[in-house]
Amino acid sequence: MTPSQQSKLFVRFNVEFKSSVDVTLIQSMGSDAMLASAAWVSTSAQQGLRRAVENPDDVRGVINYLIKHRHGTPFEHSAMTFCVKAPIFVWREWHRHRIGFSYNEESARYKQLDPVFYIPARDRPMVKVDGWKPGRPKFLTLDQSMALVTDMEHFGDIAEAAADQKYDEIVSDMKQGYKDEYARYERQLSRQLDPGLARDCLPVGIYSSCWVTCNPRSLMSFLSLRVGSEEATFRSYPLHEIELGALACEEMFKQGWPITHAAFVLNGRVAP
Ligand SMILES: Cc1cc2nc3c(=O)[nH]c(=O)nc-3n(C[C@H](O)[C@H](O)[C@H](O)COP(=O)(O)OP(=O)(O)OC[C@H]3O[C@@H](n4cnc5c(N)ncnc54)[C@H](O)[C@@H]3O)c2cc1C
Repeated sequence: MTPSQQSKLFVRFNVEFKSSVDVTLIQSMGSDAMLASAAWVSTSAQQGLRRAVENPDDVRGVINYLIKHRHGTPFEHSAMTFCVKAPIFVWREWHRHRIGFSYNEESARYKQLDPVFYIPARDRPMVKVDGWKPGRPKFLTLDQSMALVTDMEHFGDIAEAAADQKYDEIVSDMKQGYKDEYARYERQLSRQLDPGLARDCLPVGIYSSCWVTCNPRSLMSFLSLRVGSEEATFRSYPLHEIELGALACEEMFKQGWPITHAAFVLNGRVAP
């Protein structure tokens, strides 16, 4: 059998490419009222929740006070569970958030990983700026970068065409690598190799899914580092792809705990 016949034999799935980090809210528990009530345990004990429901202004006041003065423990009295589908290079960063986070990840020992791989979207800032520095890494989109090297008189079509070409080169290189390595993975599986070993050749751009459970306090800590907001007191420069996941979580947090979220933003996105 020739090598090309052999590789065809084991490519059973079409490899898929995506540019998103997908976050679904599985379940949530708690509310702004619950967090305020936890803070009032000394004065209102079991009545705190009723006070919170009847007096939303009190809730706003106490939550603002707690966040401003970094009294964090009341923000542990709620929970949210997300199902997140992200490339493994994102998980390597996400899993570093240890405190107040619980994780369960799909196993690559007991099942074959789906052939889904990450490619950057065309407008992802991806070209290093002049004077690029680690610690504060900044990037241009392909359009911005090509505009810098294109004659301004002909700016527009030429820059866009050059950016298209560069994007195609980058993405087709990535896709080829993914396809080759997934075919290798399937060949190893077809030899009845331990799946825990067969997966060793897979690139970190392959997607994996986790359930992630956290509380508002731990989520704010995560958001303070993984969203690169210019309004933040301490500006962070996160990887674009973890920021996609963080922004999706932030939106769900905002829906469920609007007062806490507003206070977090108002106080410079510093986690209490
Ligand atoms: C932009 C950016 C770049 C990064 N670059 C790198 C890198 O190059 N290399 C690298 O290894 N990591 C890097 N990291 C990861 C970083 O070092 C943290 O591991 C990650 O952000 C999780 O933060 P954390 O420890 O505060 O979170 P958690 O583990 O969730 O901890 C939350 C908080 O609990 C407290 N805490 C947790 N553990 C302890 C402890 N052992 N002792 C005392 N207090 C504790 C701290 O107050 C901490 O802030 C980077 C992170 C960001 C945002």
